[in-house]
Amino acid sequence: MPTTLPLPAASLPAISADLPVLQVEPQSRRRGMVSNRPRVMKAAFVTAFGKPLTVGELPVPSPAAGQVLIKVEACGVCHTDVHAADGDWPVKPKPPFTPGHEGIGRVIELGSGVRGLKEGDMVGVPWLFEACGLCDYCLTSRETMCESAIYGGYSANGGFAEYCVAPADYVARIPEGLNPISAGPIICAGVTTYKGIKVADCQPGDWFVVSGIGGLGHLAVQYAVAMGLKVAAVDIGDDKLDLARRLGASLTFNAKNVDVVTAVQAAIGGAHGVLITAVSKGAFAQGTGMLRRGGTCVLNGLPPGDFPLNIFDVVFRCLTVRGSLVGTRSDMKEALAFAAAGKVKANIETASLDEINEVLERLRAGKVNGRIVLKIA
Ligand code: NAD
Ligand code: ZN
Ligand code: ZN
Repeated sequence: MPTTLPLPAASLPAISADLPVLQVEPQSRRRGMVSNRPRVMKAAFVTAFGKPLTVGELPVPSPAAGQVLIKVEACGVCHTDVHAADGDWPVKPKPPFTPGHEGIGRVIELGSGVRGLKEGDMVGVPWLFEACGLCDYCLTSRETMCESAIYGGYSANGGFAEYCVAPADYVARIPEGLNPISAGPIICAGVTTYKGIKVADCQPGDWFVVSGIGGLGHLAVQYAVAMGLKVAAVDIGDDKLDLARRLGASLTFNAKNVDVVTAVQAAIGGAHGVLITAVSKGAFAQGTGMLRRGGTCVLNGLPPGDFPLNIFDVVFRCLTVRGSLVGTRSDMKEALAFAAAGKVKANIETASLDEINEVLERLRAGKVNGRIVLKIA
């Protein structure tokens, strides 16, 4: 029986082993390390696009040089996990893989050469699982644009599992005051919208529209309020808009009932910034229309496809449209600090790993108000 698992993390096969758990790896003993790493773990993984995830056993990965092994306690479920499981995007992950990029837990083992982390530290495994650290983007604090980046729960196995390995230099350091459940949504939905608001280049007192009040959007409302912006929220669900109002939105618009472009222009003369987190191409088509002159529309949401953009309108009203992908490690630290200070708090419902397919189905149907976090340990 092999004592090590030579396969790359992203291609670990399912094993139906009735292997004993809580067995110390001989290799760890040879390295003089005591590991409490079991041999197999429960995980939810994709075996084919568009099919329910399999909840079963996988080998517990061992940390490579520079990596840590994390005992996952909680993992938020992002709509990106739906896109991953459905193979929605042009660049696809390779099944079998384990989704989840809001996984939080404690470090239980260090690979060789790890600096700055110790066993027991609470960390998160984010979407930006690893970047090269050497390219022009990485060298200029724009590591989310790294062309060699690896994505957690996509090109590397993620947090829908009892254990997960990740590069020590890229895991999120979870500050005091956050528990694994409350921290989960911050390391994707939180940092993504925080960064999205930053790149909208708004000033305190400006009007800011958040379109799509789901996992991302309900945190965006709170970050925007905390950053001194006046917030208008747009969604197609009244329950989402009620939540947005409770979280500090001054105005709400149901895109099912009103033409939000006309309504936002009439109410506030157009917004200085707009953030689109909605999983709807229609919402993207309305983005620039809600802006005032000189405004910026930031795209966070990732429904597959494209949307029309009126050239005359963009040029004559001097609009900016820009995409924004998660955030850097520095953005992550800032986004987590807002949450640790109590300024931003996800509206969370918990579920078990066994319920993952129901959770994904609810996301597809737009029936999650806030974020569902899997309670894993
Ligand atoms: P979610 O399902 O929790 O929320 C989506 C929201 O959009 C829902 O509240 C839904 O009612 C709303 N919506 C649907 N149609 C709408 C419309 N026409 N107008 C306004 N609102 C509408 O999803 P989520 O987890 O918040 O993720 C949202 C999107 O962001 C996904 O596509 C995801 O892949 C993407 N995402 C991007 C990044 C990034 O780095 N850019 C990071 C995380 C997630
Ligand atoms: Zn995400
Ligand atoms: Zn790079």
